[in-house]
Amino acid sequence: MSTESSKKAVAHASTQQENNSTSALLLPAREAMLGEGMLVRRLLPHRQQRMIGAWCFFDHAGPADVSQGRGMRVGPHPHTGLQTFSWMIEGEILHRDSLAFEQLLQPGQVNLMTAGKGISHSEESPESRSSTLQLAQFWIALPESQRFREPAFEHYPDLPRIEKNNAVITVLVGALFDEVSPVEVYSPLLGLDIQTSGESSLSLPLKPEFEYGIAVLTGSAQVNGESIYPGQLLYLGQDRTQILIETTEVSQIILIGGEPFAEDIMMYWNFVARNKDEVLESIRLWHETDHFGVVEGYDGSPIRSPELK
Ligand code: MN
Repeated sequence: MSTESSKKAVAHASTQQENNSTSALLLPAREAMLGEGMLVRRLLPHRQQRMIGAWCFFDHAGPADVSQGRGMRVGPHPHTGLQTFSWMIEGEILHRDSLAFEQLLQPGQVNLMTAGKGISHSEESPESRSSTLQLAQFWIALPESQRFREPAFEHYPDLPRIEKNNAVITVLVGALFDEVSPVEVYSPLLGLDIQTSGESSLSLPLKPEFEYGIAVLTGSAQVNGESIYPGQLLYLGQDRTQILIETTEVSQIILIGGEPFAEDIMMYWNFVARNKDEVLESIRLWHETDHFGVVEGYDGSPIRSPELK
């Protein structure tokens, strides 16, 4: 794991806004390894901001050249207590899970896997594929009432889009203006993908009870006047009623938000739990039982959990 990006100092910045003056916190991503050799920018969790609403994990993978070798390969591994949300930007990945779903994910599409009490899955580049891979992967923590539910998988081939001021806004989760995402989540959340084709200025309504974070995947943006670049997450906190996003070049931006998650979670490896005993039990179930089912069709071994001491 490289520490290049984590060496950057965290900067505090003050952002003036129409009705409220709230401080914003610029959080640098860490570089992390996904599966067999795919370098990703990990924007959440961050030691200064573990979650944004129920969003508890945010990876930006690529753009990466996957024309050589076998591309992205993440062998069978378990999850509990969360939903995995995969947003494909360029290229393809093939999802397989222990419910026997096999789903190719293509640009503009979402795979949503609800782990609940337990599921296992693999993700890989298909044999026949585009040369460039880019995706954003999120985890959404499940609230107490849902975290032991039966696992489920859903593929969303199409999401609502809004065209405005040289930008295309895709409503990934939640609602913007009159457009509502079909993606089923269990906490009040927002997820937007914003692609601008150059010079653009967008003023979007925010909910004061939500906290928000914004990241640039490619290009750059000025958010309430503050410049942000790839590898940074600008945490905006609560009590805002609007956000001004401006770009001067072709850019892709992710805005996430939600009501602050009311429960204390413990994240370890691929599990979202509430305490160490729960994590230890999930590791035991993965290593010693068939609780998480079997992923058929992946050419490789299941991944073992690192030991939790
Ligand atoms: Mn996974």
